[in-house]
Amino acid sequence: MIVGVVKESFPGERRIALIPAAIPNLAKAGLQVMVEAGAGWEAGYPDAAFAEKGATLAPDRAAVFAAADIIAQVLSYGSNDKTGRADLPLMRRDQVLIGFLRPLGSKETVQEIARTGAISFSVELMPRTTRAQSMDALSSMATICGYKAVLIAANTLPRLFPMMTTAAGTITPGRVLVIGAGVAGLQAIATAKRLGAVISGYDLRPAAKEQVQSLGARFVELPIEAKDAQDAGGYAKAQDESFYARQRELLGRVIAENDVVITTAVVPGKKAPVLVTKEMVHGMAPGSVIVDLAAERGGNCELTRPEETIVVNGVTIVGEINLASTVPYHASQMYARNLVSFLTLLAKGGKLNLNMQDDIIRETLLTQGGEVVNARVREFWSLPALATRA
Ligand code: NAD
Repeated sequence: MIVGVVKESFPGERRIALIPAAIPNLAKAGLQVMVEAGAGWEAGYPDAAFAEKGATLAPDRAAVFAAADIIAQVLSYGSNDKTGRADLPLMRRDQVLIGFLRPLGSKETVQEIARTGAISFSVELMPRTTRAQSMDALSSMATICGYKAVLIAANTLPRLFPMMTTAAGTITPGRVLVIGAGVAGLQAIATAKRLGAVISGYDLRPAAKEQVQSLGARFVELPIEAKDAQDAGGYAKAQDESFYARQRELLGRVIAENDVVITTAVVPGKKAPVLVTKEMVHGMAPGSVIVDLAAERGGNCELTRPEETIVVNGVTIVGEINLASTVPYHASQMYARNLVSFLTLLAKGGKLNLNMQDDIIRETLLTQGGEVVNARVREFWSLPALATRA
């Protein structure tokens, strides 16, 4: 079987789904790789490096779609709402598609993908089990986003991060607050720590406390308790508006004490909760920075404008939405590693292994035979349940 890799078409996207080092591992699983010429260039992987490892090069996107049994992408239609639709006519029945498909983003889009007849897999739906850990692309990209958010903040802040004792006096360290201590938040804490800042972390899941503290940050305890803070998959559960209102009230003071606020709080399939209001932004010292990693999901800060950096009352609010793409070399390396793990499970001995008893295959399979077949996604979009399949 041929795994095809095309150049990512989302504007400004620099990652690529597979890298040269992945090719020998895929060959062992009976998979050949075809790459669109130039697809890895911006991530630092030239065509020659792919060819050297045994990939064939195709002149254009259409040639890859025509030849490949499996298309490996980073941002597929769904997460690529700008240019992704152009791929639909290139897809054919039973062709496998793997990528970020944003299955809880838009029902119409998911149904459009289904209508191509493709067997599509959404990496966002990867179960959070030990076995699936090496395939967890969301965590890989969140790691990069958390790291990069701190660098952006450090670069924007008119202050230094570390404490310094110099002949010209003592510099007090920067104060960083990270709201949402999931994968991105914990990496932000670790990165800010390396830069010498004084860090606090907050999350509504009680389990996050120990993780925040283990990285040397202070855990912010608020005198409110979330109901059923997390679901079986470890994701935060949505809370009612009165919880968020009380949370905002209590967070206001903490936010005003910090120079940098990095927010990462999201709830799967929901608009991100507003945790930083306009008033709180006004309460921050001029020069402060907010990096809102939830910008794409509506933002944790009321004033965030997705894809933009704005300054309000001297406070810079960064709403960049595709930070993983700004570190394309390692983002592609991590993503490719995730895909190799997944592909070796999906295509054992060069044959498609659609074993629906396997929770990884079952839970990530989004569409097949013209239908949205994923039970969780059907339920989310209130589509009637399908008859149980073998
Ligand atoms: P996420 O990206 O879904 O959300 C980011 C963080 O925001 C989460 O920690 C969430 O609890 C928090 N949050 C949501 N609403 C909030 C609010 N109102 N106030 C404060 N915080 C709020 O999270 P994630 O990075 O996917 O990680 C969630 C958990 O899952 C973590 O414990 C992580 O370690 C775990 N995880 C496990 C696996 C695995 O077992 N294979 C893989 C990845 C993540």
